Amino acid sequence: METAPAPAPETVSLEAKSPFEMRVHLGEGVPDTDVRSALKTGDMGFLHSFTTGSAVDGPGIRLVAWTTACMFRCRYCHNPDTWTLSNGIPVTLEKAIEEVRKYANGLKVMRGGFTLSGGEPLMQDRFASRLFEAVHGMGVHTAIETNGMFGDRLSDNELQNIDLVILDMKAFTRSQHELVTGGMHNEDVLEFCNRLAELKRPMWLRYVLVPGLTDIPEEMEAVADFGSSLGVVERVEILPFHQMGRYKWERLKLNYTLEGTEPPTNAQVATAIAIFREAGLDAS
Ligand code: SF4
Repeated sequence: METAPAPAPETVSLEAKSPFEMRVHLGEGVPDTDVRSALKTGDMGFLHSFTTGSAVDGPGIRLVAWTTACMFRCRYCHNPDTWTLSNGIPVTLEKAIEEVRKYANGLKVMRGGFTLSGGEPLMQDRFASRLFEAVHGMGVHTAIETNGMFGDRLSDNELQNIDLVILDMKAFTRSQHELVTGGMHNEDVLEFCNRLAELKRPMWLRYVLVPGLTDIPEEMEAVADFGSSLGVVERVEILPFHQMGRYKWERLKLNYTLEGTEPPTNAQVATAIAIFREAGLDAS
């Protein structure tokens, strides 16, 4: 981790041009007792930023809040500054709700909505749940982008405040999941997907295509067959790997293993899409 002095959080804008903006140390001044209380109650969250005008984080135009903290260490992660809770700006729940309220009418008119992403939003499940309840109450479409590991932290009732779950599927087999995420298993992820299916909650799946790491046909077929079996997956997005986050790994002095990896070719992307379509899914 960098040792540069932390800027005062109040001097850093909550809005960022994109999540690719590097942000670190912004919540380090918050006492441990306040952090613990925030995680327990959801009165305060830690956010990398808000970004506006996203067309890739759910249906329509989205306002996106990016949380900090994640339990995975995906080798292709393009925002490793969001791994650490204390890198985020401490934001009261009221302030986060007000930030969304500013855009609520526009989001409704544009048939867009609000997306909570990260990091992993369910590392701050109380904050996430209370924010979703408030935003859903405004009549704004809500979505979460999650790796699914902590899905059991949300009750069935709380899930009703989330109109769309965008599940970032790293892999289907346990060994591949561990390889991609730095040793994390995926039993809880699959269990959460099955629960969403039982509850008939709409889902999208995302799969990051990394040549030499995730472009394994059998693995993609297994993800596709599983996704298809759920019966609630409305869409699959194949995300081509890119190197836009590489500078963050370097600046954070993290061990980046994909230095020489090229983005997939159009043909490789088309092959992946075809595998998911073969399973009957709407993939693009
Ligand atoms: S789950 Fe997302 S935020 Fe967490 S390490 Fe993986 S890509 Fe990064």
